[in-house]
Amino acid sequence: MRHSAAVCAACVALASFTAQPARYDLLLKHARVVDGTGSSWFRADVAIKADTIAAIAPAIDSPATRVVDVHEQVVAPGFIDIHTHARRGIDLTPTAANYVRQGVTTLMEGPDGSSPLPLAPFLAHLASLKISLNIGTFAGQGSVRSAVIGDVDRKATPDEIEKMKGLVDQAMKDGAFGLSTGLFYVPGTFTPTDEVVELAKVAARYGGMHESHQRDETAGVLESVRETIAIGEKGGLPTQISHAKVIGAANFGKSAEMLALVDAARARGVDVTLDQYPYTASSTSIQAALMPAWLLEGGREATLARLKDSGEREKAKGQIAAILRDARGGGDLTKVQFASCGFDPSLAGKTLADLTAQRKLAPTIRNGAEVVMWIVEQGGCSGIFHAMNEADLLRILKHPATMIASDGEIPVFGRANPHPRSYGTFARVLGVYVREKKALTLEEAIRKMSAFPAARLGLSDRGVLRPGLKADIAVFDPAAVRDMATFTNPHQYAEGVSHVIVNGEIVFENGEMTAARPGRVLYGPGAITR
Ligand SMILES: [Zn+2]
Repeated sequence: MRHSAAVCAACVALASFTAQPARYDLLLKHARVVDGTGSSWFRADVAIKADTIAAIAPAIDSPATRVVDVHEQVVAPGFIDIHTHARRGIDLTPTAANYVRQGVTTLMEGPDGSSPLPLAPFLAHLASLKISLNIGTFAGQGSVRSAVIGDVDRKATPDEIEKMKGLVDQAMKDGAFGLSTGLFYVPGTFTPTDEVVELAKVAARYGGMHESHQRDETAGVLESVRETIAIGEKGGLPTQISHAKVIGAANFGKSAEMLALVDAARARGVDVTLDQYPYTASSTSIQAALMPAWLLEGGREATLARLKDSGEREKAKGQIAAILRDARGGGDLTKVQFASCGFDPSLAGKTLADLTAQRKLAPTIRNGAEVVMWIVEQGGCSGIFHAMNEADLLRILKHPATMIASDGEIPVFGRANPHPRSYGTFARVLGVYVREKKALTLEEAIRKMSAFPAARLGLSDRGVLRPGLKADIAVFDPAAVRDMATFTNPHQYAEGVSHVIVNGEIVFENGEMTAARPGRVLYGPGAITR
């Protein structure tokens, strides 16, 4: 029911004359509200009381402790990044400014089959950090397997599988949102699908989900999509393809079949979804990306011993050369870039072609393979691999079952040459793929960053702007929001976001992080204590 304008004006006048106690703590005036559901934007004010959205209405004039006129900017739910490596950096930078400045208010950890175990002390540590945004975690299947049988290539015994199920059970009780797998990595790659399914069933009992860095994102990508779907179908839980992509020129275009498999699975009732970052380069360690699994089995000392054996070294060289030619190497030594190298920080940002030349070798694929082995012998590097194409990226991005996730971390500002996704993912989708390329509507892009991942995680109190839900909010200018970080100059914050609110408190405004640290640890559906 609407009051007459005269009554409202009287209310406001009375309020200001009698210094009535503020009804709200924070009031955002003159917003274009994009509520996260995918609905079209509407003009409204947004009122916040404590950590909760109290009202959303066309003209809220009740007194508030703080009023911010957002001048027709977009007010959206804070973005939820379902796939991050935030434990790389959260201790040094508990503000997670690289994320907050893009409008991100929640990070999920424990991806790619890798998480601390047990989870309880990790979550207690995060709770003690005084962070700016919310954080939750998955339990990593690789970490579970490593703890029970080590990083070896063999089947688990029935007794070992029971032990692994026990670890997953405890992780779900501790607050995991589900099970992550990294079947591409050691030791995930040594795991038969059926073993993953047994662990997935444990996560399913608690209402958790499964997400996977797939076994193969190159020639075998479709077989891997089938596997990710099968884990969801047989495990009885939602399943998600992490950072969905197609790597290697020979595989370009396979995203169409990938999405057809997803559509067919969804049509028969399998709850399968995807997430994606908006770049055509990936990032992981040089050894994981470019070396075959047998070479890495058993850990670093075992790898170094194999590289000293001339027969094994020659075999490794041939296989690394094939990966450089057909898979993550992108077919060209300039396509492999170093993000950071502990043994020689000056290599950050340079390419495998640069280093091959520096080592006075001709820039052939086989010489590149030799240099890759040398790098691992020196202690290793993390790398960036330019080996995807834009058409696949766009096709995956536009699919309604794809959400946005960075796969990033919290870099030390200015140090090394990390993948720009950590600084730019969300702003890039809004600036490049909504505004410039018009690949998505603004409302659809925001849904992919808020309500969709929230629903996926069972975060029923976040991800949508609605009275009664938590006040996690991003305010930005849709004409100005953009990513600044590049592959050669990554340490640049995104622009165009004016305010970020977490649990009702402003953590970013006027181009600066505030002193507020309202971030909370979020606990998954099976958590015993919250
Ligand atoms: Zn991954």
